[in-house]
Amino acid sequence: MSAPWDVAVVGGGLAGGMVAARLGEAGLRVVVLESGPVRGGAAEAPGAGRWPGPILREGKGGRFHREAAALLGHGPGGSSALYGAALERFAPEDFDGSRATVAEALPTAWPVSAGEMARWYAVAERRLGVGAVEPAVSERDRVIVETLRGNGRAPYRLPVAIGYRPGCGECQGMRCARGCKGEGWSRGLAGASVTLRAGAHVAGLAREADGTVRLALADAAPVRARTVVLAAGALNTPRLLMASPDLFEGAAHPLIGAGLMFHCSDLFVPRVDPALAASGPKKVLGLRDFYDLPEGRGGEVQSLGFDLAPRLVSRHLSERIAALGLPGQPFFMAALRIPATILARRLGTPPVLATILEDLPYVENRVLAPEGGYDPAGPVKVRYKVRPELAARWEAMRREIRAAFAPLPVRFLLRRVLPNLGHPCGSVRMGADAATAPVAPDGRLRGVAAAVYVADASVFPSSGGTNPGLTVAANALRIAEWVAADLRPAPGAEASA
Ligand SMILES: Cc1cc2nc3c(=O)[nH]c(=O)nc-3n(C[C@H](O)[C@H](O)[C@H](O)COP(=O)(O)OP(=O)(O)OC[C@H]3O[C@@H](n4cnc5c(N)ncnc54)[C@H](O)[C@@H]3O)c2cc1C
Repeated sequence: MSAPWDVAVVGGGLAGGMVAARLGEAGLRVVVLESGPVRGGAAEAPGAGRWPGPILREGKGGRFHREAAALLGHGPGGSSALYGAALERFAPEDFDGSRATVAEALPTAWPVSAGEMARWYAVAERRLGVGAVEPAVSERDRVIVETLRGNGRAPYRLPVAIGYRPGCGECQGMRCARGCKGEGWSRGLAGASVTLRAGAHVAGLAREADGTVRLALADAAPVRARTVVLAAGALNTPRLLMASPDLFEGAAHPLIGAGLMFHCSDLFVPRVDPALAASGPKKVLGLRDFYDLPEGRGGEVQSLGFDLAPRLVSRHLSERIAALGLPGQPFFMAALRIPATILARRLGTPPVLATILEDLPYVENRVLAPEGGYDPAGPVKVRYKVRPELAARWEAMRREIRAAFAPLPVRFLLRRVLPNLGHPCGSVRMGADAATAPVAPDGRLRGVAAAVYVADASVFPSSGGTNPGLTVAANALRIAEWVAADLRPAPGAEASA
């Protein structure tokens, strides 16, 4: 068998891209095993790069249903290839666990100080190109900002990693064909001194007698590595670990899969004068005035990245019809297109804004073990309940938003509290206390007699009230430093060898 790789990185998404780039720079022999197909050319077509299997959420009576709007990346860049590239730091208080929580939740403190994270945030922002280009905002968005300021609020320019090359459409939900978007591929893997194997789905891990790790691939011979960094994302890293009983010394940590969080994102439009010019960048507005609420942890408001379109209006109306329990939803969707177009004309083209409401970690919210083998086309099953405390915070956010945007009327677009399935985190949590965290503060997986690290969004002990991407990247770069230090030969080792 050939010599083992120094490092095998499982998953070439945002965390995988950052870790691999950093370890390549450190001169290590790194292979990145990415389940999805290659990037470039036709692979950048609209709709490309999405995880093939469905996400199923457990409902009443243990029955599973397919979640609408479930979007997960597949291929180099992972979900960051599809993301909106709004890259913000968590608040410093997010890290010390001092913010309000509830007794039944798992601990929310990070085993990393806010000061240390600030250092890594700066590195991640430089790598991803955050805030490098900021085109002027539209007249319409300036009016919204002035309204908020008039109400004593503090809106700010949303930091994004978008290069705004000619023809840029900000690419929310799709891959960027212009190379504008700073993500795990464009700012990580694309220029890294590593070997990238796309289409390499890792189906299981096992420890070898010599302390290396064998990575079983779905359609190819296994790969061996001295160190493994798991970066398959918060839905797939726990599934891979649950499919790898031979990795652990005893039983795997009981919290692998548990503590799953999403943000809950409400959508709304403020009604602005339709005559105001709306051309300009769309991802511009951030508002953090509701990060903490009297009801507990709140979150942020930000531009979603597009204006209200008839397609969105008809989806909203058809959701209302679906709530009445009427059959034939696709028929209604088609029939609603004309009234939706008329309604959208009346409202003008207001920007769609989103909330990012913090979710808390509960043991019962979890990723479930894959059944009958672990492959990308199989369903990703989750158990996720919205607790009353979350629903109360969701309502409180609506109250605050109405007051902040007054006198602009605000129309909310969703009927119920929905998890944002593009923001999974917390399913293989990191912490100082081994009883509540399968992963140690340096990213190393506990209970395994081999060097296995977890670097992706799985390790988040709390979800924060803002987008996860920058924190994923910063933390992955931090963990890469520990991995590199672990593999560096001890001083004098060569002389004595
Ligand atoms: C539509 C959308 C919009 C978003 N917008 C924003 C935003 O504006 N700002 C922000 O901060 N965040 C945003 N996010 C969230 C952000 O993209 C994620 O938090 C981030 O990408 C997570 O990084 P990760 O490394 O944990 O996982 P990912 O980036 O998802 O990477 C995981 C990778 O692992 C691969 N993989 C999985 N299983 C295996 C396996 N068994 N073997 C090999 N490879 C495997 C996957 O194919 C994937 O490429 C958005 C997400 C989506 C979907």
